[in-house]
Amino acid sequence: MQLFQDDDEGYLAWAHQHPDGFVVNAERRPSPRYLILHRADCTFITRASQQGRWTVAYIKMCAPEAAELKRWASTVVGGRLQPCRWCDPGP
Ligand SMILES: [Zn+2]
Repeated sequence: MQLFQDDDEGYLAWAHQHPDGFVVNAERRPSPRYLILHRADCTFITRASQQGRWTVAYIKMCAPEAAELKRWASTVVGGRLQPCRWCDPGP
């Protein structure tokens, strides 16, 4: 599991190398209220954001398996992942 914060290049490289992986989009200080699970190739999180930045206002927690991210959400953040409606990463 890898966290990308203030590291757009690192995040984009990871997403490119792990098209089958999963990404949680979270607030910079992760809150249980906003934890969205995406597939790594979801256009919602790979297209250019308004500021052209991906890892500043929001951070990306990335992993090859969604199970790791679910554990992180429950044990570290104290919340549950919500699946993205665009890429439908599953329950
Ligand atoms: Zn998505």
